[in-house]
Amino acid sequence: MTKARIVILGGGWGGLFTALDVAGSADVTLVSDEDHFLFTPMLYEYLSGEVEAWHIAPKYSELLDDNVRVIQNSYAKAVDLNTQTITLENSNDILNYDVLVLASGGVTNYAGVEGAEEFTLPFRKLVHADNLRTHMVQALDRIPPDMSPQDVRREVTFVVVGAGASGCELSTKMADLLKDAFKRRALPGAPRVLVVEMGDKVVPGMGEQIREIVEDALRESDVEVHTRTRVVKVSADEVTLEHEGNRETLKTAGVVWTGGVKMSSLVEQLEVEKDRRGALIVEGTLQLPQHNNAFALGDIAVYPDAAPTLPGTAQLALQQAKMAADNIKAFLQGKDLRTKHFEELGEALSLGTERAAVLTAGKAFGGALARQARFALYTSRLPTWHHRLRVGAAWFLGGTEIRPLLPLGLER
Ligand SMILES: Cc1cc2nc3c(=O)[nH]c(=O)nc-3n(C[C@H](O)[C@H](O)[C@H](O)COP(=O)(O)OP(=O)(O)OC[C@H]3O[C@@H](n4cnc5c(N)ncnc54)[C@H](O)[C@@H]3O)c2cc1C
Repeated sequence: MTKARIVILGGGWGGLFTALDVAGSADVTLVSDEDHFLFTPMLYEYLSGEVEAWHIAPKYSELLDDNVRVIQNSYAKAVDLNTQTITLENSNDILNYDVLVLASGGVTNYAGVEGAEEFTLPFRKLVHADNLRTHMVQALDRIPPDMSPQDVRREVTFVVVGAGASGCELSTKMADLLKDAFKRRALPGAPRVLVVEMGDKVVPGMGEQIREIVEDALRESDVEVHTRTRVVKVSADEVTLEHEGNRETLKTAGVVWTGGVKMSSLVEQLEVEKDRRGALIVEGTLQLPQHNNAFALGDIAVYPDAAPTLPGTAQLALQQAKMAADNIKAFLQGKDLRTKHFEELGEALSLGTERAAVLTAGKAFGGALARQARFALYTSRLPTWHHRLRVGAAWFLGGTEIRPLLPLGLER
């Protein structure tokens, strides 16, 4: 008997963990435009060098056995749900499937702000963190030793757009890293890092306990918080902000965009039921309503029964992956599929290079202890036992110190 063909589009939280669970049960293919998984919550620590690429971005070849065929560095251009085929960019091959898993995640949403797509740095992938680090190093390298402190401050101004969890984690990390570099290089004055938020508070959507810890961390890292402020224009070295009708243009060494997520063109072209953000509406079983052999999960799917706080999180995609895998196996065996409510597993934020915040069982705590707890928690969430053991040992024995921002020629 020929095995059913399962094709999984996307190798992130939803796609990789589904692949790990269905491996061996059918003829499984994973398509990804990368050659590695990315443990997104630790991208900030990768920027600072507290963790290395192999810790948080293991190659698929290390994680998946021969029973999953991986088509990597390959972008799925279009899906035809009626003919059950997938077209890949830069390839004439057409993939046929019996069961499809859509797990291609979101893309950065620049919300139509003038110059944002062209001139800001996104922060979603390993390469984005590498680019940002290079930007920071180049800004520091440009400072001559005799520059006045106020000119230095203007030259080393970075703006982070969005004060959600990502913007607060990133801005505190950048500020701590830059301050460390100022000390090591004996530069005059101090760097300037701003986080800009349209709403009236940081980490909107998170509870008061966590917000207090985040606000303390922003203060301790000397991050300037600008709430009720909109970015209206970005150019190569300037950003224009608007606060209560007043506009101000700042010179910047870099603007990083963490302001939101939208659907990719792959999802946009699917003619199925969607919500107002364009996300795919799925049944409680994660199946598309009119196509019961197609499952969708993670950032691109709207699951009616998910707890309201979970959409757009890795913890939801991870839990959905387990259910998608079980339901795919049941579907192929003609058994009943299950539906389930997901659990809130708590929250953990990295805040600068010394601290973190963790919310677990309704209690929040911060500081260096939270940083240790976060590392321990995330070791247990890494994919595969083998990888967890290797990385856990590396963190325990080798430590998790930052890698200072050295002059470009000395960076590795
Ligand atoms: C910097 C950062 C930090 C975050 N921190 C947290 C956190 O602390 N806690 C939390 O719960 N969530 C966090 N998130 C959110 C979390 O990462 C997402 O909710 C989660 O990744 C969603 O999983 P997914 O499988 O839907 O998509 P992803 O994990 O984004 O995976 C999608 C994959 O598909 C690939 N892909 C996309 N389109 C195609 C295509 N057409 N063809 C082939 N491959 C394609 C992408 O490159 C990617 O590898 C963070 C996100 C970011 C960016």
